[in-house]
Amino acid sequence: MNLKVDLFKNVIGSENIITEVEGLKRYHCTTIPEKRRIDAVLKPGNKEEICEILKIANQNHIALYPISTGNNWGYGSAIPVKDNNVILDLGRLNRIIEVNTELAYAVIEPGVTQEQLYTYLKEKKTGLIMDPTGSGPSCSVLGNTLERGYGITPYGDHFNAACGMEIVLADGEILRTGFGHFSNSKVTRVFKYGTGPYLDGMFTQSNLGIVISIGVWLMPEPEHFEVCFFGSDEKDALGEFVAATRWLLLNQVVKGSINIMHRNRILTLMMPYPWDEMNQRIPLDDSISRQIAKQRDICEWNGVVALYGTREEVLASKKVIKRVLRGKTKRINFVSEQLLNLVEKYQWIMGPIGRMIGMDIKELIKVLRPSLDLMKGKPGEVSLPTPYWRSKKEMPEANINPARDNCGIIWLAPVVPLTKEDAEDYISIITPILNEYGFEVCITFTAVTARAFDCTLPILYDKADEQETNRAIECHKKALKACMKNGYIPYRFGVQSMDDIVDADDVFWKVAGKIKESLDPNGIFSPKRYSLR
Ligand code: ADP
Repeated sequence: MNLKVDLFKNVIGSENIITEVEGLKRYHCTTIPEKRRIDAVLKPGNKEEICEILKIANQNHIALYPISTGNNWGYGSAIPVKDNNVILDLGRLNRIIEVNTELAYAVIEPGVTQEQLYTYLKEKKTGLIMDPTGSGPSCSVLGNTLERGYGITPYGDHFNAACGMEIVLADGEILRTGFGHFSNSKVTRVFKYGTGPYLDGMFTQSNLGIVISIGVWLMPEPEHFEVCFFGSDEKDALGEFVAATRWLLLNQVVKGSINIMHRNRILTLMMPYPWDEMNQRIPLDDSISRQIAKQRDICEWNGVVALYGTREEVLASKKVIKRVLRGKTKRINFVSEQLLNLVEKYQWIMGPIGRMIGMDIKELIKVLRPSLDLMKGKPGEVSLPTPYWRSKKEMPEANINPARDNCGIIWLAPVVPLTKEDAEDYISIITPILNEYGFEVCITFTAVTARAFDCTLPILYDKADEQETNRAIECHKKALKACMKNGYIPYRFGVQSMDDIVDADDVFWKVAGKIKESLDPNGIFSPKRYSLR
């Protein structure tokens, strides 16, 4: 055991310190092509231990990299921005501290996973649902909120739904944000801004403190819930769908988000790369992709929108959606839970009927059920096949873990204004770059607000193939540069890109740097993470 780590033995015991190669393996696993030297992993069990760790780290200038569950697929997982950090794994802090069913919120610690919160809310019959991301049951709710991630329900903007944080600062002081610093506050979890400077944002996408608990607003289980799936193969489909999305969101016909997915993206959810059909060639040929998509009833552009509310509200929204999309779709279907239950129950009769009209009902249910569940607050693994697309390894049936399985995915997630012109411009920028490096374009446009898309673009590569991995690195760099040059800035960056975005001459990063100097003068937290230091 090296000297650095010996210092922490008295605080958390050697059983909560990892230094041996085998134990560290899991922390090195990442889907991006990056490697880091990790000195050790510390697993504190409470805030007192964290404060003791910070004292030692300050005295000895040890860099700590806090993680909650450390999955962060496609952005770096648990690996720090720089070498020789000690990872602070907060997974043992996994209490659901409070759930208030009347005011619909929970207070949770970093290690609380999506599955844990979902199960708690369900088993305790709280009548509340959470907003899960597609990242799977094992991911941290708090970790995703700090990265400003999102889901699809009306509570999908996770930072927006966060209310009150408890943060351990580098000097060991505990900061409670919003109204939380008033010891008798009854309003910490119901009004997020407090009075005075609003500090919460500083502790997201940053390296200024360790967040040890957070309030998250929850949604009442909707009285009625339906999902609308629509699609079109027409040339101007994307533009039409973008305009309809903007109108539906600006006019608040839809409460949650709307996703517009290219057929390639849907294929990555349903199957591995079609090596046989492609005779082992890459990237995916457009005509072959179109042919496979047709067999599976997938259109060129495919929209998904979930409707939540009272029965009357949902019925009214359905009417408006039908009106707005009239003449613009090849198909538009509304699926309610009741309908899906029926189809599942009568599969034996629906199956043969489906086959007669060219539909594989079993396959359909396999995708529909987890998709509907996800949109109704149940975390699942429906989005996790994507990283296995180019991997030649078989995907496990359950407990899917793309980092463990050495899958290759690097996310590029630019924000694009919600206009036809910008959506098409963005596609015209990235398509030639991806194709040049041998990758197909698998876009989802997610309307994170009524005005902005987050355009998640996965660069999917075979991590076991060294040449392809090198091409993925170059491709990501070039596509990122092109997006930045054209004003489409990603909402979030992987650990490999921090040096590319943080500019020492930019006043923004200089101000952030001054805050860092003052809160963490020894630079013990996550060096260079969204930061000059
Ligand atoms: P997930 O497993 O849900 O994807 P992570 O635990 O990987 O989330 O968190 C994402 C990133 O957010 C981490 O790499 C880390 O930099 C930062 N982070 C996570 N938890 C904390 C925390 N409690 N305090 C400060 N930063 C955190």
